[in-house]
Amino acid sequence: MAYLPALCERCHRAQLVAAQDVQSQAICCRRCGATLRVIPGCIYVDRDRELFEELSEIVAEAGVSAREAAQWAASAAEALWSRRFTNTFDALATRLPGITPLQMSIGSNVDAQRRVFQTLKTIFDGLVATLGSGSMSRVAAGPEPQQTRPRLPP
Ligand SMILES: [Zn+2]
Repeated sequence: MAYLPALCERCHRAQLVAAQDVQSQAICCRRCGATLRVIPGCIYVDRDRELFEELSEIVAEAGVSAREAAQWAASAAEALWSRRFTNTFDALATRLPGITPLQMSIGSNVDAQRRVFQTLKTIFDGLVATLGSGSMSRVAAGPEPQQTRPRLPP
């Protein structure tokens, strides 16, 4: 079965949804039931689901902001391009401690590292698109302050 990556508009968890469901029905977050938005990325298969969900949970737990997500997406792209993952992995592990066991288990396996970074890049890109657009950025920034009348430009 083929899966597409999607991101929850409310809790910002990335998850994989069956491609056939995307066309036939509304897709909802398994965690909170809110609407999922399909995000750009590759097509995933059954064997990718475990890794995708593990990484999604690690990113969600860390509460990554839109700005951070953009930086990490760029770092992941650079690592994928250069096929050097170790330094970026180390940097990620300081921000996302949950990733350390995964880093240990895959060691220097470049193919496994590439899968991790491709998946992370999809999740980060999705976060940038979702958090960075309109109302979502307010959610990411926490409770909205009481807004006074918008200041007019001079
Ligand atoms: Zn959700």
